[in-house]
Amino acid sequence: MRANCWMGRDTLEVLEVPDPHILNSRDAIVRVTSTAICGSDLHLVGGHVPTVKKGDILGHEFMGEVVEVGPGVSNLSVGDRVVVPFPIACGACFACQAGLYSVCENSNPNAGMAEKFMGHSPAGVFGYSHMLGGYAGGQAEYARVPFADVGPIKIEDDLPDEKVLFLSDILPTGYMGAEMCDIKPGQTVAVWGAGPVGQFAVASAYMLGAERVICIDRFPYRLNHAQRAGAQTLNYEEVDVLDALRDMTGGHGPDACIDAVGMEGHHPTPALYAYDRVRQTTRLETERPSALREAILSCRNGGVVSVIGEYAGMLDKFPMGSLMNRSLTLRTGQCHVQRYMKPLLERIRRGDIDPSFVISHRMPLREAPHGFELFKNRQDECNKVVLTP
Ligand SMILES: [Zn+2]
Ligand SMILES: [Zn+2]
Repeated sequence: MRANCWMGRDTLEVLEVPDPHILNSRDAIVRVTSTAICGSDLHLVGGHVPTVKKGDILGHEFMGEVVEVGPGVSNLSVGDRVVVPFPIACGACFACQAGLYSVCENSNPNAGMAEKFMGHSPAGVFGYSHMLGGYAGGQAEYARVPFADVGPIKIEDDLPDEKVLFLSDILPTGYMGAEMCDIKPGQTVAVWGAGPVGQFAVASAYMLGAERVICIDRFPYRLNHAQRAGAQTLNYEEVDVLDALRDMTGGHGPDACIDAVGMEGHHPTPALYAYDRVRQTTRLETERPSALREAILSCRNGGVVSVIGEYAGMLDKFPMGSLMNRSLTLRTGQCHVQRYMKPLLERIRRGDIDPSFVISHRMPLREAPHGFELFKNRQDECNKVVLTP
């Protein structure tokens, strides 16, 4: 089959690789019909995530048709159409029983590697480094799906791929970001990052009752997307974000702040950005946490800072004094996608949200490296790329 492979820092190639096979009784093989490029894939491609190896197949957002099931999978049949969640989860361990699927204790065969970086291991993830299991990803014609009796959700009506594909990651991730804010009626939520996850966080904050959502980015076309989702917007290259948010909230600051940027933040203060950039490149710190710093400093006293942007390691100049002295709550996590797929599919069916609004580019799988280039360089107003094998 054909698959999009990581061949070294900033190098991707679509290659012929062996087809996947059933390895365990609870596996299924899915023929991929749609897959997407995610912002977190850029961190892998740029070499910011350790333990990626030459030849690894990328992709953790995919859906398709079941073509084979192991003997332990009784809820799926050949021919079923499914969306596959990006965290791989067993459904039975302590974490899964608590609904914390992205920290499943049984799905990462390389847990020892992750423990060295993080103390304990999170769940295995498709196409996301050996530290997270070394699983082949879904930017391919076929994928092996472990614990297929737990993760994939069947799509039984004729909703097109583009409306349901993002149940695999970014829609639930944006939704969980808003849910962690415990939004009360009348509240204001600020979202850093107007990429697709930020756009879904904006839409979700409204679905969960926010009165006003303010979105912060520097790319006008992304801010336009956020406006279409209902947000007021701030371009941090044009205004001082802290001052602007204070002015917009009677001096209090937003009730909740969502970091949908993560580790590769850009910073309007060149000195601090350069400082982070040098430290990140020399591996003294692994993150450039400019959005997170600003989210913490901006949040009103007693508010919630919700982090859904991707982080992988250590960070520096973290405003712990602000967090502690002002009674802020910090909430975070890789999305427990399995928990949100059914209710969000229901919302899509009801027409509360049509997630396909984030798609800017559609192309065949063999053009995946080109799609990554467009997305990485924000060329051609690239917002979200969907690949079809
Ligand atoms: Zn993703
Ligand atoms: Zn589990």
